[in-house]
Formats: sequence, structure tokens, C-alpha cells
Amino acid sequence: MKRWNGWGDESVKHPLPEAAARFLEERVGPAKATPDAPLASVVGQVPESRLTHHPAISTDPANRLRHARGHSLPDWVALRSGRIGVFPDGVAYPISGEDVRALIDYAAQTGARLIPYGGGTSVVGHINPLAGDAPVLSVDVSRMNRLLHLDERTRLATFGAGVNGPNLEAQLRAHGLTLGHYPQSFEYSTLGGWIATRSSGQQSLHYGRIERLFAGGTLETPAGTLQLPGFPASAAGPDLRELVLGSEGRLGFITEAVVRVSALPERETFRAIFFPTFEAGMEAVREMVQAGLPLSMLRLSTAVETETTLQLAGHAKAIDTLERLLRLRGVGEGKSLLMLGYSGTKSLARATLRAAYGIAGRHGGAHLGVGGIFGAQWNKARFRTPYLRNTLWERGYAVDTLETATTWTRTPATIAAIEDALRQTSEADNERLHCFTHLSHVYPHGTSIYTSYIFRLSPDPDETLARWQRLKRAASQAVIDCGGTISHQHGVGTDHAPYLPAEKGALGIDALGALCRHFDPDGLMNPGKLLL
Ligand SMILES: Cc1cc2nc3c(=O)[nH]c(=O)nc-3n(C[C@H](O)[C@H](O)[C@H](O)COP(=O)(O)OP(=O)(O)OC[C@H]3O[C@@H](n4cnc5c(N)ncnc54)[C@H](O)[C@@H]3O)c2cc1C
Repeated sequence: MKRWNGWGDESVKHPLPEAAARFLEERVGPAKATPDAPLASVVGQVPESRLTHHPAISTDPANRLRHARGHSLPDWVALRSGRIGVFPDGVAYPISGEDVRALIDYAAQTGARLIPYGGGTSVVGHINPLAGDAPVLSVDVSRMNRLLHLDERTRLATFGAGVNGPNLEAQLRAHGLTLGHYPQSFEYSTLGGWIATRSSGQQSLHYGRIERLFAGGTLETPAGTLQLPGFPASAAGPDLRELVLGSEGRLGFITEAVVRVSALPERETFRAIFFPTFEAGMEAVREMVQAGLPLSMLRLSTAVETETTLQLAGHAKAIDTLERLLRLRGVGEGKSLLMLGYSGTKSLARATLRAAYGIAGRHGGAHLGVGGIFGAQWNKARFRTPYLRNTLWERGYAVDTLETATTWTRTPATIAAIEDALRQTSEADNERLHCFTHLSHVYPHGTSIYTSYIFRLSPDPDETLARWQRLKRAASQAVIDCGGTISHQHGVGTDHAPYLPAEKGALGIDALGALCRHFDPDGLMNPGKLLL
């Protein structure tokens, strides 16, 4: 069963090796677990629903709690401490576009606000009901999850937009096909959620971000139904799909989505390459992507992230041997780990990997014989890593992530500014913080930057939240000051909304506001998200 106050399935554990726990203690300081609020007491806080009766709406308190929060750090503080704040007044589970239309009509008649809910994996406050006089209905679309149409010849698949990652891939796999969209939240996040947040999967270098995969579909809005045909290309004016991508539930519900699918790859492999420095690795990665090598993934860790990854992996003896071998190849202290992926035909695999190794070698990269074993391990564990967040929390540590994208020229200064902002803010709090960064989605003209940071929980949840707010503010301002986007993949929600005007400008924000009013004149759809 899905956990109500943490990541993933209740039965899955991600233990922390003792050596890794010592490493964290050295970096951040000794921490103490804080007690979790019991489920029954939190369910007991759920107030009376303000919704008028509707046969398709559940007002069950446990259901309402399970739809109250996502996975941002403030959400975790709220869920673990039992200080939820606002609950939705009810939850509906439509199974068709007609059901969704009926719920929109109900909201128009009663003034209820609607929050489209996919997998609830948002990390920026997208699906949280906000305080206000109007009742709030969370509309969980997860039962709209079937493959509705498949044109195998054209390779277009139409799905109910509530389908989650594993279910979507299983339905395609039966036809020898894949979408290839693998965000780390794959286990629970949904197709509609990916589109509404402009998500990016781990193998986006090959399959593309969701923008490239989303061919069309249906948006049910308070103003009517918007159909988006799945043309291979079109010059018929502005592309209306762009309105839906990143709309964060503000315009309406994506009920059906047409996606571009591919044949299952004949060959899929992940390899590790170690560089003497992060700077050398970055040059190699830039060259690989600008050369157009048909790789599926290039994920480069800074020296601190590389060390942290090796420490958290546990296997001290194997890592020791690896490090001795690397030193013989001139890769020692300060090394940087590149995870490289290939998905495609067998015939292209060898030439692509040879070309990548050639570029890496010119920058001092060493791939050793164990690169494949390391890569296979990474592949096996890639959707398990989020479970570590549960373990760390239960040991008294909070983990959060920040992400942006910028040009290659600005990348080094942006990483430094984000990490400095986090460290300085933490120092001002007389606390230590461990932060590390990787580049996970690379483009010819730049890269995403993904920074993780670990800090101690305070025994007082309000203080943990305040600590996080100071860190988030400082790092977000650093992103803006460096000219990066406020989000490469997580979206805007509530947490990034204050920074959006710096990126879009006043005219751009006005245009987005006008768009929301056009499709949703009464402001029923997910108010307070994306635009303040
Ligand atoms: C552990 C973890 C790892 C993550 N890794 C990644 C990653 O690798 N890449 C990445 O891009 N993101 C990642 N995320 C963020 C998150 O998973 C994505 O934003 C994801 O796209 C959200 O999908 P969801 O179905 O859970 O949407 P939800 O969280 O349910 O909703 C997100 C937003 O989309 C709207 N929405 C959802 N469904 C619909 C619909 N059918 N119609 C209209 N609006 C809708 C909601 O109203 C809300 O505004 C991660 C999150 C976690 C917790």
C-alpha cells in the first residue's frame, strides 16, 4: 500500500549502510529522529466537508488526507508532524471525460474549486488545497488509465491521462512499444501530470522531454472541450499543445493524451565513466551532446556528489578496489562520475559507445571494465533511490532538491552560486548542510542543473519549515540572479510562483492570466498555482 506520509510503497525499505550514516554525521552533524504523527490522529483532524452532496464525491476523511499534500519538503514536514493545514473537502474518481465534464458542471453550479490530481508526486505544492471560503474538490484521475487507441503503424498511442508510469509501459510493452519517459517518480506519477508539469525523464536525451512525446489529446475546461489533433507537424499558426504543456491544472483536465511511442530498444545499456575533475567531465559531456551522439542519457556528478554516491552505496571493499584502479589511470581525489546510457538498435550501439569513450578519453575519462556493472546497478536501483528519503528522515535528516537549466557558459557560476547560497544560509542558522550537484539533462546549448541538499531536522517542525524557507529563498534567488530558469522539470506550483515574473516578464504573466480567464472565467481550476 502507498505510504500516506512518505515516499512509495509501505513494504519497501532502503536501509542506510552504517558507514554512510557516519559519513552524513561527519558532514551535517549528529541528528535525532522526530516522532511521526499517528495516522488516526491526523485523520481525526479532518474537518466537516463544505461540499454539497454529489454521488460521485467521497468525503471520507482518510481519502481527503491522502489527497491533501504532495512531496515537497513543506509537504513532508506537514505530513510527518500531522500539521496538514488545509484538506480538500472531497475527492472524486472520474473514469471518463463525461464524468469530468459533470464534475466541472457541478463546480460551476456550487462554486467549488477543482484540483486535478494525477499521482500526487508534485514537489512544488501543485496539488495542495489552499485556504479560502470556497470548498475544494480534488479530482483524482488515476482510474482513467487505459490504452484507448493504438495506431501501431503511425506509432501514436492514446491513453487515459491518469495512467501511471508502470501501467503505461506495461500496456505498450504488450505491443513491443515504449514511451521511454522515466522520471524518478515513474512508479506513481501519471501521463497527465507529466504533461501538466513539463516533466523530463531520465532518458530524455534519446526519447525527448514530455513536450516531444505529447502529440495531442483532449482538454476538458470550464469553457468547453479543446481537441488537439496529433499531426506529425503543422504550420497552422501557434501550436495549442504549448498551452496545455505546463498548465498545472489551471486551464482544465487533460482527459486523454496522444503520445509518440517507439519500438522497444534492441539494446539498452548504462555505463560509468570517471573523470579526473568535474570540469573535464563537463567538457566531455558538452562535446558528446554537441556532436549529436545518439545516447539516451548523460548524467554527470560533481566531485562531492560522486563521493556521496560512492559512500551511500555501502560496498566499501568494492569501492576501495575501484578507487585503486582509478588512481592507476590518473583519476583520484576530486573525481567526477558520468553515467552514460544508450537505448536503440544493436547496430548503432557499438559505434556510439566507441565515439563516446573516444571523447571521454581525450578529457582523461576512465571507463574500466566495471563501468557496465556500475551502470547495471544504477539502472536496477534508479526508482528505489527516493525511498532513501524515508530512511534519512527517520534518522533526523531532511533531503530536498533544486533544479534549473542554463547555458553551458553560465553553468559553472550557476552551480557555485546555488551551492554557496545554500551553505551560507545554513551557516547563518549555525547549522551545517551537505549539498551536491549533477547535470542530468543535457542539450547542445546548455544543461539542467540538479542540486540535492541534506540538513538536520529541528525537533520543532515549524523551525524545520522556516529553515527550509530560508534555504529555498536564497537558492531560488541565486538561480534568478544567474539567469537560469526557475524550473527545468518540476514546474512552478506555489513554491516557484513568486519567481515566475522574473522569467516571463509583466507582459508574459498578463498573457498567462488572460489565458486562464479565457478557459476558466470563474477561476474554478487549481487557484493559486503557477500564477499567484
Ligand atoms: C521522488 C520524486 C522524483 C521525481 N523525479 C522527477 C523527474 O525525474 N523528472 C520530473 O520531471 N519530475 C520529477 N518529479 C516531480 C513529479 O513527479 C513530476 O512533476 C510529475 O510530472 C508529476 O506527476 P503527477 O502525476 O504525480 O502529478 P500531480 O503531482 O498529481 O500533479 C501535478 C500538477 O499537474 C496537474 N495535473 C495532474 N494531472 C492532470 C491532468 N490529467 N489534467 C490537468 N492537470 C493535471 C495537477 O493539477 C498539478 O498542478 C519527482 C518527484 C518525486 C517526489
